[in-house]
Amino acid sequence: MKTHKVAIIGTGPAGLTAALYSARADLEPIVFEGHEPGGQLTLTTDVENFPGFPEGVMGPDLINNIKKQAARFGAEYIQKHVTKVDTSSRPFKFYCGDEEFQSETLILSTGASARFLGLDNEKELTGKGVSTCATCDGFFYRGKVVHVVGGGDTAMEDATFIAKFASKVYVCVRRDELRASKPMQKRAMDTENIEFLWNTEVKEILFNDSGVTGINVLNNKTNETTERETDGLFYAIGHTPNTSFLDNQIDCDDHGFIKTTNGGETNVPGVFACGDVQDPIFRQAISAAGSGCQASMLAERFLHS
Ligand code: NDP
Repeated sequence: MKTHKVAIIGTGPAGLTAALYSARADLEPIVFEGHEPGGQLTLTTDVENFPGFPEGVMGPDLINNIKKQAARFGAEYIQKHVTKVDTSSRPFKFYCGDEEFQSETLILSTGASARFLGLDNEKELTGKGVSTCATCDGFFYRGKVVHVVGGGDTAMEDATFIAKFASKVYVCVRRDELRASKPMQKRAMDTENIEFLWNTEVKEILFNDSGVTGINVLNNKTNETTERETDGLFYAIGHTPNTSFLDNQIDCDDHGFIKTTNGGETNVPGVFACGDVQDPIFRQAISAAGSGCQASMLAERFLHS
């Protein structure tokens, strides 16, 4: 069985940038695309904040371009899903079902999936009023009314960010208190056009051909359901890092995000992580791409040392 120098698991901007750097360093990376090739960017339309595209770029185009760029230098893509890894000895073994592969280093870039509420039509309406990324989409809601769901740091950060553009931001919190840290709470509460709707659960999304028009919310204290007009519905109820296939071999934080040090090292020498799977805070295409570069350079150094 061939022992590869670098195997990259996951093909969002982090994994693909790691592929590009590893390929250019003659490390002949094999890159596993998994169930969601291209990651979350393939679910978005306009990306206006990735440097180098003055007119913006479509998410899927950006991904395809990085993919082609890495392929040009020899990255090999495998359209399979890695189901298991064994990092107990080197070369590391990993599996797609029964098929075994081996590699001297592993770069984990499997991303984190935004949590959804599970409401009817929410996936179809993503990009048409439903969003899981305020930094990506807040700008499109200038002068509009927006509802944000969640009570953690992400919800506070998202509400505060969107409030710069939107005329009004309502934060739907399912309890009567926030989970967010005190400074983030204070920032949101001190923002004039943010209002909190306590004990409020979104139960239904209303829409027409152009997208979201409103929501039905339940006050879980009074049991009263109210229809509310809104132009946008932002989910900020957490992300689930895609780490279950690691089977606890790699150290993760309480939320399941891989713990990294020195720019991408995990607790297992030779295993590196990049992108959203190790980043609960920034979660941007550009920060993911940057961390992919770091992971690749760390892998190269590791192989040479
Ligand atoms: P969290 O898990 O911290 O918070 C999720 C929030 O969503 C909670 O308020 C939770 O409510 C609510 N929620 C979950 N499921 C539902 C549901 N089905 N319906 C309604 N509400 C729901 O996730 P975050 O993404 O906010 O934060 C993740 C980590 O990243 C944290 O450690 C956070 O501190 C960190 N972070 C730090 C930032 C920074 O420092 N700048 C920015 C963003 C995140 P409940 O409280 O009732 O469970």
